[in-house]
Amino acid sequence: MSAINFPNENRIITKHLEKPDTHLIGHYESVDGYVAAKRVLNEMSGDGVVDEVKKSNLRGRGGAGFPTGMKWSFMPKDPKDAKGNPKPKYLVCNADEGEPGTFKDSLIMNRFPHMLIEGMIIAGHAIGSEVGYIYVRGEYVKEIISVEKAIDEARAKGYLGKDIFGIKGKNFDIFLYRGAGAYICGEETALLNSLEGKRGEPRLKPPFPAQVGAFGMPSCVNNVETFASVPFIIREGAAKFAAMGTEKAGGTRLFCVSGHVERPGVYELPINVNLLDLIEHCGGVRGGRALKAVIPGGASAPMLTASECNVAMDFDSLAKAGTMAGSGGVIVMDETVCIVEAASILLKFYEHESCGQCSQCREGSHWLARMFHRIENGGGTSADLDFISEICGNMAGQTICAFADAVTGPALSSIKKFRHEFEEHIRLGRCPHKHVLVAQQVEA
Ligand code: SF4
Repeated sequence: MSAINFPNENRIITKHLEKPDTHLIGHYESVDGYVAAKRVLNEMSGDGVVDEVKKSNLRGRGGAGFPTGMKWSFMPKDPKDAKGNPKPKYLVCNADEGEPGTFKDSLIMNRFPHMLIEGMIIAGHAIGSEVGYIYVRGEYVKEIISVEKAIDEARAKGYLGKDIFGIKGKNFDIFLYRGAGAYICGEETALLNSLEGKRGEPRLKPPFPAQVGAFGMPSCVNNVETFASVPFIIREGAAKFAAMGTEKAGGTRLFCVSGHVERPGVYELPINVNLLDLIEHCGGVRGGRALKAVIPGGASAPMLTASECNVAMDFDSLAKAGTMAGSGGVIVMDETVCIVEAASILLKFYEHESCGQCSQCREGSHWLARMFHRIENGGGTSADLDFISEICGNMAGQTICAFADAVTGPALSSIKKFRHEFEEHIRLGRCPHKHVLVAQQVEA
């Protein structure tokens, strides 16, 4: 482990976090806010912006890590309907942030909503869209108020609406849509259905949103942090952003660290920070206890054991380690955690959140939740562990969306890496950890 040498002035999104009123347009403009949007609208073509973002190696911060510039380049140039009339294109911000352990978009919306708006103005110009939607999860009441206020401020300044920044014929406006709090609405096609007022259920792909998106029109969906990274790329240059990351992923990353560390929170650090250094940066494991496991990229990411945590946090390094960077939600578990119980809690969550369209996912997530609960409470059998693997094998890659694959992440990784704990539960007919914890409390 080593100390992280990353001065605050190197931060891209949270550079001014310690200052007051960062959510107000006055503060944002005092630190070069909206300079990039003005430059883009006056001096750059849409293709020029796409090329710049491609050069920056910005990868989506929502979970999949898809290259942002490439995603923008998939948008059709001049789409027309069957009668030859031009079709509108829509830009959509995914602010659903439902992945357990993830809360960075909340910080951006509360503290830096104008950075998100400026990123969307630039992206709208890049793909040729005049309308943007921000889809926010319903529980984010403070965030919704903050973003709505920022939209009003930007409209009042002439940065949103008609003839923005005083440029005749240049129109772009943003509308906020409040979801109802379903995890699956973070999947982009379920989000689009929900935005249209339908049930939030994923769509079969193809067609992809770039062809048939919101309201049947070509649409581009990106995450809050992704948009918030864009003004820096234009203002400071793609090369500078790219140089801050790895060969294949530029910039910094907002890591949401929760669980058993001394100082949980959101930390903006180099995208390839070492996981052990990140834990140390958060004050280390709570109470000086030993590290047991980490979920490095939101609840869907397979767990790492303590001995696997000497790993860089960028997309490719974590993929090589058999897990994923996902949404940047880092859940740290110390030696007191019962892994069977932790996995059981996650599977209960997934059982509740399956949209139910695919029988493999609807039934599989239910069976898994029941089996993990049974093992946790001492009712499991030795045949259960192989049966769980079989159920997972029938779920992953067999369904409309990647939710079923996500369910298998914590299920399979917990058994693979902590099989002895499952076997102990089955052998003893109870949770050995709860017994130990109660004994420790009695001694104390
Ligand atoms: Fe719904 Fe699950 Fe099928 Fe995704 S995999 S569409 S969440 S049932």
